[in-house]
Amino acid sequence: TPDSSPDTQPVAASAALMERALAVTPGGVNSPVRAFRAVGGTPRFIASAAGPWLRDVDGNRYVDLVGSWGPMILGHTHPDVLAAVQGAAAHGFSFGTPSANEVALAEEIVARVEPVEQVRLVSSGTEATMSAVRLARGFTGRSAVVKFAGCYHGHVDALLAHAGSGIATFGLPDSAGVPASAAAETIVLPYNDVEALEAAFAEHGERIACLITEASPGNMGVVPPAPGFTDALRRVTREHGALLISDEVMTGFRCSASGWYGLEGPYEGGAPDLFTFGKVMGGGFPAAAFGGRADILAHLAPLGPVYQAGTLSGNPVATAAGLATLRGCTPEVYERLERTARTIADAASAALTEHDVPHTVQWAGSMFSIFFQPGPPKPVRDYDDAREQDLPAFAAFFHAMLAAGVHLPPSAFESWFVSAAHDEEAIEAVLAALPGAARAASD
Ligand code: PLP
Repeated sequence: TPDSSPDTQPVAASAALMERALAVTPGGVNSPVRAFRAVGGTPRFIASAAGPWLRDVDGNRYVDLVGSWGPMILGHTHPDVLAAVQGAAAHGFSFGTPSANEVALAEEIVARVEPVEQVRLVSSGTEATMSAVRLARGFTGRSAVVKFAGCYHGHVDALLAHAGSGIATFGLPDSAGVPASAAAETIVLPYNDVEALEAAFAEHGERIACLITEASPGNMGVVPPAPGFTDALRRVTREHGALLISDEVMTGFRCSASGWYGLEGPYEGGAPDLFTFGKVMGGGFPAAAFGGRADILAHLAPLGPVYQAGTLSGNPVATAAGLATLRGCTPEVYERLERTARTIADAASAALTEHDVPHTVQWAGSMFSIFFQPGPPKPVRDYDDAREQDLPAFAAFFHAMLAAGVHLPPSAFESWFVSAAHDEEAIEAVLAALPGAARAASD
C-alpha cells in the first residue's frame, strides 16, 4: 500500500523546489503541462521511480499513470533496459560517428511496421514531425500542410495551429512567436470530418505537400478515427498527389507491436507514405524517428537535397534503451497492458457512474481517456467535442487521486498510460482511490 496516507501527504520539499525552479525557469518547469496549471496545486518533484511507482522528494509514493507521457511501457527502471543503458554508457556517451545500435534500432522498427522501409533517427518527436514535413515539402515541391484541430505534433512552428495537449489545456489556439507566414501554409481541419477534408483538397489540392495526422489522436484525449476515416485520408491525399504522414509518436509500439498501424492497417488505398515515432522507441531516453517509403527517404541528405542532421541523433545510450524496450515488448506485454487498462477504466467508469458524474471512456489499444462530458454519454469525435468537458470536475478528481497516491496526467486532454509493470498491488491502489475521487468530482 502507498506509504503515506491521503490525509498527511506532505509536499513541502516539492513546494520548496518549485519555489527555486520559479526563480530560474519560466513557470518552474521545462515542459508546460508539468506545472499543474490546468488542475492547480504543487507539481510533485519525483526523486525516483521503479516499476509502476513514482516516489517524490517528500517520500510520497504514487502509482504512475503518466508513464513519462508514454515512453515507460515496461515500467520504470526495468532491469533489462537499465542493464542495456549501463552497458552502453560504459562504452561511451556519444561518438558523432555511426554505431551498431543505430542500425539495430532501425532494423527493429523496419521489421515491426511493414510499410516503413527506412528510418532516420532523431532525438525528439518534435524533430521527427518537423523533419517529416520538410521532407514531404522537398519531395513534392509544394508548401501547404494539412493538420487536424486537436492533433499535437510537437512544437513545430507550422504545426502549432490548433494543437491539442498543453495548448488545448491552456485554450491557446496558436502560439505567439510563430510568424504568420509559417502558419499561413497550414490548413487546419476538424477531425473525423470527411466532407471538410474533401472540400479543403478540392480547393487547395495542388498546393498541399502533405497531410499529417496522429495515427489515432491522443492529445485531445483519446479520439480514435471513425471507421473508414483513415482510408479517406489515404484516398484523398493520393488523388491530389499529397503525402500522408502518420504521426505514431504516441501510439507507435504502444497500441500494438507495430503501433496503431498494426491495429487498423493495412488500409484500402495503401499505407501512409511517412511515419513518425518517439516515446516508446526511446525507452525514456531522447530517441525518435521518421521513416517510410525508401524512394522518399532518398531525398534526405546526404543522398538528396533535403537537409536534416543532429549532433546526438542515434545516440548510443538512447538507442540501447530503445532497443531493450522494444525487445521487451512481447505479445504478453500487450495483452497485459490491455487487461490492466480495462480493469482501471472499468472501475473508474463504475465509480463515476455510482456518483452520477457524466463521462465517456474512449480507447486506442491500451490507451484510454475519460472525458468528463456533461450530459448523456456521447462519442467524442473531434476537438470541439473534447472541449465540452467539465474541467473543474476533472481537477477535483485528479487531486483526490493524487492525495490517495495515484498520479494521473494533470490535464483532462490526455491519455492515461499503463505499463507492463502495473502489478496487483498497484492496480489495487488505483481501485481503492477511485470511489473517493469520483465523489470529489461530483461535488
Ligand atoms: N507527436 C505526437 C503525437 C505527440 O504525442 C508528441 C508529444 O507528446 C509529439 C509529436 C512531440 O514529441 P516530443 O515531445 O518528443 O517532441
